[in-house]
Amino acid sequence: MAPKIYINGKLYDKADAKISVYDHGVLYGDGVFEGIRVYAGKVFRLKEHVDRLYDSARAVYLEIPLTPKQMAEAVESTVRANAKQEGYIRLIVTRGAGSLGLDPRKTSDPQVIVIVDDIVMYPQELYDHGMEIVTASSIRNHPNALNPRVKSLNYLNNIMAKVEAIRAGCHEALMLNIKGELAECTGDNIFLVKQGVLKTPAPDAGILEGVTRGAVMELARAAGIPVQEPALTRHDVYTADECFLTGTAAEVIPIVKVDGRPIGNGKPGPITRQLREAFHELTRR
Ligand code: PMP
Repeated sequence: MAPKIYINGKLYDKADAKISVYDHGVLYGDGVFEGIRVYAGKVFRLKEHVDRLYDSARAVYLEIPLTPKQMAEAVESTVRANAKQEGYIRLIVTRGAGSLGLDPRKTSDPQVIVIVDDIVMYPQELYDHGMEIVTASSIRNHPNALNPRVKSLNYLNNIMAKVEAIRAGCHEALMLNIKGELAECTGDNIFLVKQGVLKTPAPDAGILEGVTRGAVMELARAAGIPVQEPALTRHDVYTADECFLTGTAAEVIPIVKVDGRPIGNGKPGPITRQLREAFHELTRR
């Protein structure tokens, strides 16, 4: 079935789903978004995603023309209209059409867009045997410039690092912050396991607080695995027993090589496998 795309309360065929070229989302990447999964017809952690969307909007002075409840309903109804059992949702709010200048006050009509499409994951092989990543030379945005906690439409910072990943023959790149500490990957959060302890960079390191990250931390605590959010460096990566990434599209994916160095024994580790299975189970609950 051809996708039906929601724009401001109406559903459109893909070919007719259009917004103004004067939209500041197009002109400046001025807007916010979410990526969400549908598992067995149910939207995964919708409240968390809607809350993060409203926090992102608030942080960039963008007023969303719907209440969070109406936004959640818009997502649910678009999923139903598309009759998707397994899928990926892209929820977007742009600043709206305005003048060619930056001034957000000159915009009038924020566009609320919901796209429901198929999910594209990393190749299965990488879930079974682990993935390789490289450290990007492009650092993650400084929180005092554009805070990575804001999921804004301006993703060039991540795209620059993604280009480095691709040029190195990888799917993902590790991004550091200005201090040289681990931040996150271009579209995924990073976790390490050392001597049975799960470690991941804190929000202060300059990261998006991933919904999957939050779910995995809960699952780990419930399983009695200690969870810490210390400052981490590449030394911690190279000497880790296990490494994995989390993200809405990626779920939990083992990392077995970073910058050409094998992590642990170079195979997906037991805690990674355990958390991956626990996460799968959570999505089916
Ligand atoms: N970091 C970045 C930069 C992201 O874009 C994403 C989402 N794709 C994540 C982390 C993971 O967040 P989530 O688990 O909410 O998808």
